[in-house]
Amino acid sequence: MLRTNNLGYPRIGNLRQLKKSNEAYWAGKISREELIAAGKGIRRENWLLQRDAGIDLIPSGDFSFYDQVLDTSLMVGAIPPRYHQLVEGKGPERELDLYFAMARGYQRDGKDITAMEMTKWFDTNYHYLVPEFTKGQQFGLFSEKVMDEFYEAKQLGIQTKPVLLGPLSFLLLGKEKEGGFHRLDLLDSLLPVYGEVLQRLKKLGAEYVQLDEPCLALDLDKRSRQAYRKAYRALAEQAAGLKLIVATYFEGLGDNANTALNLPVQALHIDLVRGEGELYQLLPKVPHDLILSLGVVDGRNIWKNDYEKSLLIIRDALNVLGKDRVWIAPSCSLLHVPCDLDLETDEKTLPPGIKDWLAFAKQKLAEVSDLGKLADGSGDTDIDARLAANRRSQQARAGSRLIHRHAVKQRVQGITEADSTRPTPFTGRKPKQQVNLGLPDFPTTTIGSFPQTGEVRSWRARLKKGELSGAEYDTLIKQEIEKTIRWQEQTGIDVPVHGEFERNDMVEYFGEQLRGYAFTGYGWVQSYGSRCVKPPILYGDVSRPEDMSVYWSSYSQSLTPRPVKGMLTGPVTMLQWSFVRNDQPRHDTLFQIALAIRDEVVALERAGIKIIQIDEPAFREGLPLRKADQQLYLDRAVQAFKLSSSGVRDETQIHTHMCYSEFNDIIGDIARMDADVITIETSRSQMELLDVFADFKYPNDIGPGVYDIHSPRIPPVEEILFLLEKAKAVIPAEQLWVNPDCGLKTRTWGEATAALENMVEAARILRSVK
Ligand code: GLN
Ligand code: ZN
Repeated sequence: MLRTNNLGYPRIGNLRQLKKSNEAYWAGKISREELIAAGKGIRRENWLLQRDAGIDLIPSGDFSFYDQVLDTSLMVGAIPPRYHQLVEGKGPERELDLYFAMARGYQRDGKDITAMEMTKWFDTNYHYLVPEFTKGQQFGLFSEKVMDEFYEAKQLGIQTKPVLLGPLSFLLLGKEKEGGFHRLDLLDSLLPVYGEVLQRLKKLGAEYVQLDEPCLALDLDKRSRQAYRKAYRALAEQAAGLKLIVATYFEGLGDNANTALNLPVQALHIDLVRGEGELYQLLPKVPHDLILSLGVVDGRNIWKNDYEKSLLIIRDALNVLGKDRVWIAPSCSLLHVPCDLDLETDEKTLPPGIKDWLAFAKQKLAEVSDLGKLADGSGDTDIDARLAANRRSQQARAGSRLIHRHAVKQRVQGITEADSTRPTPFTGRKPKQQVNLGLPDFPTTTIGSFPQTGEVRSWRARLKKGELSGAEYDTLIKQEIEKTIRWQEQTGIDVPVHGEFERNDMVEYFGEQLRGYAFTGYGWVQSYGSRCVKPPILYGDVSRPEDMSVYWSSYSQSLTPRPVKGMLTGPVTMLQWSFVRNDQPRHDTLFQIALAIRDEVVALERAGIKIIQIDEPAFREGLPLRKADQQLYLDRAVQAFKLSSSGVRDETQIHTHMCYSEFNDIIGDIARMDADVITIETSRSQMELLDVFADFKYPNDIGPGVYDIHSPRIPPVEEILFLLEKAKAVIPAEQLWVNPDCGLKTRTWGEATAALENMVEAARILRSVK
């Protein structure tokens, strides 16, 4: 039999049990024992599910209460010194609070310890806690979680394959916290801990161990490649007969192929979704005793696997390697897809026709198992029926009238250079906009949302349940908008916003109004810790049947002579925060969205809106992992933004907003977007992020965030003024706007108003001294 391999399974639980248990524990509502039991329950369910699905190599250790990289830091004892006061001893009970302190910070008993830094896991929307390293750091086995979980499964009668983050990726994903060394210098002291873990696992009865090395999909220098060879030589020696699997994913191996293929391990997992076609370069080079785990089922997206297409690939591998050296697997851990499609029963948001094209984690296990049987030819009786059903789904999707809209495709094909360029350069637009808008120096504005209070959210919930009529909901939202506009007028915000009260989420709100989007009820994916997101499904050609935001924006504008800023989500963000169709190139979908947004921008202008903001917080997120692919992505992202923003007159001012972004290497592309004003998050970096704009001599207007909206803290006037003075020192005064870092939806009204009053006061002082 061909063997099936799974790399990891979602640990949030299909109803987000982990999120709920974690948050209950943090709030002191359940005990540590109860939380630990909840984790155990999820693991048990996942293992049984995988066993019943016919997976041969079932992962253990992939469960995590917060993050698998943090688990690894704890395993090897990489505990930054500021937490040492919390280390009371070993054992899962005592470990847990230390663990959460590292993840979330610790403010209790007069102690105030900051959390570890969090950053994006490769190009996913998952965030990991960045390991911290110091010079000459020593490691030692601390957490025995991976051994415990292997044993736990064994007690249930399930032989698992422990999963570890490999030593090289662990080091490479971390950060040096002081100068004078490189984190790879620490390899020698790290490896013995891994060696000890492997030996312990072997003693407990493990046969295979999976070492995740996703960094093998990145651009690596010579030193890192050498370190790979050295490390795995050492581990193979220490493994004492244990069989090692190195798992790579999120990209093809590219120029790391020789390094990866020649590591002294038993099996290598490759991502054949991202690295489509790479198999044929690898096959002739696979050493005679290496097993290849073929990642053919997409672990990053929710589309049903095309069995026939996968079988072609699998058979090509079988012809070269033979049955004993081919495993079937998802492309990466299933952490990045929702748990179970069977839970989706609301035909209004996810019509059955579309549901038939999808597979979530549980369904993907069945796909892996089916493919194993089909390729093996030793299938059970109804495998042929499943193959036929799969073929029918693929055909139904390919020809579906739900997906294909000729006019949309044609419009994308007809896009011209002129469509994505504003007719006049910024220098010519700016004076016209000044006349049109009549704003003071250092104009004040906000990023869009005002507090989404429980009350506002309850209106939407009641509307959904039918407890509020459309008209009643409308009135309530209008009252909230009016209150917000009046307050901004009184406070002296020069460019008010309507507050985004009518929106549940900046992507979902527009997705619901566009054709081509579907939604799930339970399609949750872990973003970080207990936070989950529910990305919409972009399944078909995108078009905009009606105005989306014009109603609320015009209403808001009717309340005040000040220019109210219209608020839209940009095409890159609409794409990036969704599950995107895989039956056409991503950029085709991107341009379709861009055209839909463009129409909305034009409609807003026609309705008398003079300033329109197109948010692109996810602009950088889609950046490919390999440098060689990045410029093409950036070119398309810039073009999409310009396509959406260039349909207006010179007098209309286009804003964009980006948060959490590094701009260093992409500042030229940001400038090419040619937004009249860009607002960015800068307060937490004390305006340091602005230097990139200054050095580049960024030509258009900039609103560097003057306070951190993530914190309830009210920034004093002097503090804001200090930051503004700093900004003024590097950016010409006539280019500067004054605004917070991001939207205010998570703040209370008290916090939002107090902070904004101080912000307006700071701008006033700045004007008076000019
Ligand atoms: N306009 C959005 C808001 O103010 C922007 C959110 C974001 O950047 N993530 O909430
Ligand atoms: Zn933001």
